[in-house]
Amino acid sequence: MRGLFKKALNNEELTKEDGLCLLNIKNGSNKFYELLNTANYLTRNEFNNKGYIFAQIGLNAEPCSVNCKFCSMGKDHYSLDNTWVKDTDTIINESINLTKEGIDDLFLMTTADYDINRFIEIGKKVRNVIPSNTRLVANIGDFDLDTAKELKNVGFTGAYHICRLNEGIDTEVKPETRIKTLDNIVKAGLELYYCVEPIGPEHSYEQIVKEMLRARKYKVGVMAVMRRILIYKNPLEKYGQISALELTKIAAVTRLVSRPHRGMNAHETIPCSLLGGVNQLYAESGANPRDTLSETEKSRGLTPSKIKDLLLDAEYVL
Ligand code: SF4
Repeated sequence: MRGLFKKALNNEELTKEDGLCLLNIKNGSNKFYELLNTANYLTRNEFNNKGYIFAQIGLNAEPCSVNCKFCSMGKDHYSLDNTWVKDTDTIINESINLTKEGIDDLFLMTTADYDINRFIEIGKKVRNVIPSNTRLVANIGDFDLDTAKELKNVGFTGAYHICRLNEGIDTEVKPETRIKTLDNIVKAGLELYYCVEPIGPEHSYEQIVKEMLRARKYKVGVMAVMRRILIYKNPLEKYGQISALELTKIAAVTRLVSRPHRGMNAHETIPCSLLGGVNQLYAESGANPRDTLSETEKSRGLTPSKIKDLLLDAEYVL
C-alpha cells in the first residue's frame, strides 16, 4: 500500500488495480488517514494551497424526459415543490450578484429538454455582465459539435458533462451518447468538468474507478465526486446513501488516480473532505436534482459566503 502512495507522490500514473486497492482501504483505519494525507499533500502543493468557489444556478424546475432515477426532476417521479422557468433578467441579476461574492466559476444548469437556442442567448447575455476572468460553464443535456462550438463562441469556457454511474440503466440516455458529447466538448476547445456521480451504496468500486480513469484520459482540470442524496419516494431510495467518510475516501482516491491539474471537489459539501485533497466547493441556487425544494438556496444549497468560510477555515487561500 505504501508503494501506491509513493507512486502517487512521484506523479506516476496509478492503474485500475491500484485504484481498486485504494478504494478497498477500510474507512477510519491507519491506511485511510495515510490516503487522506497523501491526497491533501498533493492538493496543497500542486495547487499552491488555492481554494476555489464555484456557483451553479438551476435555470428551470420542470419534469425532465431523461427521467434519471436519482433525480428529483425525473418526469415519472418529479418531486420538487413547484415548476417554473427563470426569466432572463432574473438569471442575469443572479449571475451578477454571485460574481460580486467572489466566485471563480459560474455554472448554468438546465434539464435536458431546455431549449438550446434560449440557453445560448442567455449565456451570451450573462457573459457580457460577469467579469472576463470568471469562467462560464454549461451544465445541460447532450449536444453535437456545432452546438459545442456555438457555446464556445458566445463565451462559455467549459461544460460539465458526465457519463453517469449506471448510465442507460438508471437514466434514459445511452453511455455512447454521453461519450460523444464529452468528445464534442473537448473538440470545441471547451474545458471539460468531470465527476464520478451519483455514487450510491449499490455501485461497485470497478464502476467508480472506471470514471476516474475516464477523467484522466480527458485530462480534466477540475475533478469531482458526488454522492447520491436520499430523496423520499425516489426510485433509488431503497439503496440509501454512502457515508461522509466513504465519500471522503473516494474523493481522495480520485485525487490520486485522476490527477486533475486545478481543483478537486466532493459534493454535497462535507467539511471532512477538505482534509483529503478537496480544495473546491459549490454554492447552489435555483433547481437542484438532489433537493425537493425548487429554490435550493433556501434548502440544501450553500451560499458563496458559506463556501468561503469553509475554505478559509481549512486554511486554503482564495
Ligand atoms: S439529472 Fe439532469 S438529465 Fe437526469 S432527469 Fe435530472 S435534470 Fe434530467
